[in-house]
Amino acid sequence: MPDLQKMALAHELLREFGSACLRMREAAVIIQRDVLSVQAAIQTTVTPAAASPEAAARPSPLLELRAMTKTFGQVTALAGLEASVAPGEFVTVVGPSGCGKSTLFNIVAGLEEPDAGGVLRFEGNSCHAADLLGRVSFMPQRDLLLPWRNVVDNAILALEVEGVPRAKARAKALKMLPEFGLAGFEKQYPHQLSGGMRQRVALMRTFLFERDLMLLDEPFGALDALTRAMMQRWLLDVWQKYRRTILFITHDVDEAIFLGDRVLVMTARPGSVKLEQVVDLPRPRRPEIVTAPEFVRLKRTLLDAIEEESMKSFQSTVAQEKAL
Ligand code: ADP
Ligand code: MG
Repeated sequence: MPDLQKMALAHELLREFGSACLRMREAAVIIQRDVLSVQAAIQTTVTPAAASPEAAARPSPLLELRAMTKTFGQVTALAGLEASVAPGEFVTVVGPSGCGKSTLFNIVAGLEEPDAGGVLRFEGNSCHAADLLGRVSFMPQRDLLLPWRNVVDNAILALEVEGVPRAKARAKALKMLPEFGLAGFEKQYPHQLSGGMRQRVALMRTFLFERDLMLLDEPFGALDALTRAMMQRWLLDVWQKYRRTILFITHDVDEAIFLGDRVLVMTARPGSVKLEQVVDLPRPRRPEIVTAPEFVRLKRTLLDAIEEESMKSFQSTVAQEKAL
């Protein structure tokens, strides 16, 4: 082979070798980055943060949300939301319509992933929203009862999906029926039930899916005032018996105070927590508490905060309509 040809070949080989080296270096960088993120994930999941003496005295939160943001295309539904829920706590959430309450629940239920940059912690461990799917029980805004299933079979739906044998799940549900005011109605279909009963079937399904955290999205929103008041008292009884942690959305301030240990008031969209109000009223809560001076004082504070946000939300809607 002539020298010139040899040189051209050597040159070619050298170039190939150089570019292989570059690709190897890139691969090494990627592998190193993956190793680091796996290490970080292991550290955040396995090693709990060192607690300060005061923090050690407080029960660590069951759920923690830090700098939580969620955008849908042009719409920022949540921006920098901060909240935490202690084990066994009943936290109510109020805020103007469209401020991101359901979006918040969809994230905690594992149905939507928040934008990068926020922190979601469950039982002290950092996690993705998807990791929470099936770890919390969730009653969405609509009751979502299946019309072709009777009361018991609607109630056991989540258990069935989880793989519990139908006979076992039914036996469990039948035992719970009286407590949910549904004794004797097990064979009825959703269209044969009143609004309150349908909500109790949906709630029973949520309770049967035994998870530490329950998310209830405006469960009594569509009920008349009398049925709603009865359902509130009943829910408090059931909650105190089962000691679950509840995060509860409502647009009714009285309901938020009557039920909650704490009320979170959300800002107009983009939603974040505007006010965190502790409800220091004794339990069990009697219906007449709604006229007690402490109750009325709390209501005034909360209404002021909500009205301010509702006004902002209203003004931005009007401005958007004008721009069209
Ligand atoms: P709320 O429950 O407080 O009434 P939502 O969380 O349902 O409010 O909605 C907050 C905002 O996010 C609304 O503007 C809504 O249109 C928007 N949004 C919610 N879910 C989606 C989605 N999946 N895709 C696009 N926009 C959404
Ligand atoms: Mg909603």
